[in-house]
Amino acid sequence: MMKNTFLVLLFIAAIVSCKVEVETGPKQKSEFGLVIHGGAGSIVKGQYTAEEEKEFEAKLEEALKVGHDLLKSGSSSLDVVEKVVNILEDSPLFNAGKGSVFTANEINELDASIMDGKTLNVGAVARLTKVKNPISLARTVMEKSKHVMMVGDGAEIFAEQNGFEFVDKKYFFTERRWQSLQRAKANERKEKNEDKHGTVGCVALDKNGNISAATSTGGMTNKKYGRVGDVPIIGAGTYANNSTCGISATGHGEYFIRLSVAKDIAALVEYADLSLEEAADSVIHGKLENLGGTGGIIAIDKYGNVTMPFNTGGMFRGYMLDDGISVVKMYQD
Ligand code: ASP
Repeated sequence: MMKNTFLVLLFIAAIVSCKVEVETGPKQKSEFGLVIHGGAGSIVKGQYTAEEEKEFEAKLEEALKVGHDLLKSGSSSLDVVEKVVNILEDSPLFNAGKGSVFTANEINELDASIMDGKTLNVGAVARLTKVKNPISLARTVMEKSKHVMMVGDGAEIFAEQNGFEFVDKKYFFTERRWQSLQRAKANERKEKNEDKHGTVGCVALDKNGNISAATSTGGMTNKKYGRVGDVPIIGAGTYANNSTCGISATGHGEYFIRLSVAKDIAALVEYADLSLEEAADSVIHGKLENLGGTGGIIAIDKYGNVTMPFNTGGMFRGYMLDDGISVVKMYQD
């Protein structure tokens, strides 16, 4: 009799403890949301005038607001990341689309990629010289070709066939990026390092739990002809998977490729059961830093948690969740 009572009590205790475990499991922090970046680098106080700071902040706010309105009205995360990156590509402030950095032979070669975390479909483009919005071409490669990556002339023939807007090479020119190429060349002769970063990216979680990521860049100032960085390499600069999280990176691309940074963060969440923040910190402040790489990432997980670590002076960044409050930053906290 005593033994039976004991067994019944044990059974009840087991059920209660199961329930407690379920109830204390991870909670949805936000039903939807987006996180963006406009590049990492030596972005330190004193470098920009108050007016310039305002310009950067206003553009990031605008991009967040557009993305948030779309998510709120039920748009897919894929539409949102494309649209938000288009806004940043069209701004001369960032190193993507208009305002892209110059290569060593004084032209602009643009790279981009997009990933749909629901289907794991991807599209990537590299070495574009005429397409106004590389991220939209990346999406078209994903949706209208049998391939996942197209580069150079071939990618531009495909763009033409799909009615893409082409721009004159002069469209990408900005005095600021031109001067930074001149400085990089002078510094190269003196074997000094010039800050060459700046890229744009967006990761979004929509109301249906779908996560998408998109990244677009002009690459690195003074890059050699033919150099392709991490941005169009899925798993390095961009990754998204509904079962874990989405990531977009910015920084010294060669290191992000060597470490498969974006996929490594998602893998740590998936296999090592780390939180998004722990996973991202261990890659950016651990592996990347130990290898001598610089840059940062933005990420959102399936619960709507956001993280934005970087190991440079600063990173243009921001996020907006279902509470509608936008957070925009450029310097270290
Ligand atoms: N990651 C980019 C590249 O290496 C550059 C950047 O993010 O600033 O092409």
